Amino acid sequence: MQWSVTVVVEIAPEAEIGQMEQAVLEVGRQAMREALKQAVRASEDGHAACPGCGSASSRSQGTVARRVLTRFGRVVVRMRRQRCASCGRRFRPAQGYLAVLAGGNVTPELGRRARWRGQVGPMQPLILCLPWLPAARRRCILV
Ligand SMILES: [Zn+2]
Repeated sequence: MQWSVTVVVEIAPEAEIGQMEQAVLEVGRQAMREALKQAVRASEDGHAACPGCGSASSRSQGTVARRVLTRFGRVVVRMRRQRCASCGRRFRPAQGYLAVLAGGNVTPELGRRARWRGQVGPMQPLILCLPWLPAARRRCILV
């Protein structure tokens, strides 16, 4: 798979280096979030067959939004929903590679770095997690 993301940085001519740094940082985060969305779409295209019978023929049943917290911020992924034309099974082509989230919304690496109401790094958002919940119900929010 290969895709590209275009980055446009707008900085006032009189901006000082701190303002430039902030603008570039935010554009970089936006590019990373867009790249992840494109990666999801590309992976869905590669996993279009029905997981039940293997048929490549399915109909779209729209999309469902899935919020994922990553090291570069919150990404809302539009996951495709399909219905197999052969066996009628409903499936989401992206389900397999999101399985690592175990029903939660935090990527494994962000989860390892997360601290209770702590800043996890200069490129990471401030997040609040509820670590005592079972993995399937665990959620984190951006603060
Ligand atoms: Zn099927």
